[in-house]
Amino acid sequence: MTPVERVGFIGLGNMGGPMCGHLASAGFDVTAFDLDAGALERAVAAGARAAASAAECARGAEVLITMLPAPPHVESVWLGSGSGPGDGGAGAIAALEPGALAIDMSTSSTAVGARIVAAASERGIDVLDAPVAGQSIGAQAGTLAIYVGGPEEAFARARPLFEAMGDPARIFFMGGNGAGYTVKLLLNLTWFIQAVATAEVLTVGMRAGVSLDRLHAALVGSPANSVFLERDVRMVLDDGEYDDAFPMRLVTKDLGLAIDLARDVGVPVELSALVEQIHRRARAAYGDTAGEISAMRLYEDVAGVLLRLPKA
Ligand code: NAD
Repeated sequence: MTPVERVGFIGLGNMGGPMCGHLASAGFDVTAFDLDAGALERAVAAGARAAASAAECARGAEVLITMLPAPPHVESVWLGSGSGPGDGGAGAIAALEPGALAIDMSTSSTAVGARIVAAASERGIDVLDAPVAGQSIGAQAGTLAIYVGGPEEAFARARPLFEAMGDPARIFFMGGNGAGYTVKLLLNLTWFIQAVATAEVLTVGMRAGVSLDRLHAALVGSPANSVFLERDVRMVLDDGEYDDAFPMRLVTKDLGLAIDLARDVGVPVELSALVEQIHRRARAAYGDTAGEISAMRLYEDVAGVLLRLPKA
């Protein structure tokens, strides 16, 4: 297996920008593209070459990576006409050479992923879905967790790139195409269910007159403990922060995709659907860019309490 040298990277936002920079720093020959000129300039400053369109970025790349907001952007870049000026209306798959590898690292849908795989296989191109966890702070530090679906040989070929962007101990091969997206959507769904459950029990406890620090400590020391309860909720309890690093526009996108997935495989998910609506309500109340645990703020507002631990 010849090592990969030429890499294309499309989607240079909060996540893709630093990920692309890590690939350039690791010595890959990286060409980058984004519709946002400022994002592209930052990638060039971090060592990448600028392309004028997605198609130009794809041409000559041995591996092409996308890190885009949502399934419509992913589909238009790989298959459609959303890949920017001068692309001739064709997607990135059409511009890659047979034998190239296509990797989507966005949190996207298995349905769009399957259409990309179908188009790619006609051209002799392997595809991996490789969404990530770890937020922009993990993207900047190069410590992302990566969940990969697709052919195992393609995973082996891409591994050095994943190691440049992620924590080598948390690069997980999940199975065939779509398995990476599935696992990522399910882990986000679990976390956002825990956020709502935690908001409910803490506001009820406070209104019932129990002190928040005693209730919180009891829950952490009980079988009901979770990483959310022990660590992540502290942002709200200690600082009144709802975590702006991941905006509500992406939270509701991910939860919607998880519900779609459940529907596609025929499993009724009443709890998940209700939790999704609660997060949608929080987005409507506090805005698209509000922090990812804004659902807790809804409960605070309804119950008329502030979930804050006393300063030590
Ligand atoms: P972002 O909105 O900051 O960046 C997306 C970038 O894609 C932007 O620079 C935008 O200009 C570019 N783009 C959109 N359409 C394009 C097109 N047609 N051609 C070229 N560029 C285009 O989003 P982000 O926070 O970097 O997230 C990217 C993906 O990673 C999303 O799927 C998100 O759910 C997932 N994710 C984000 C986080 C996080 O903490 N932000 C964590 C894990 C996973």
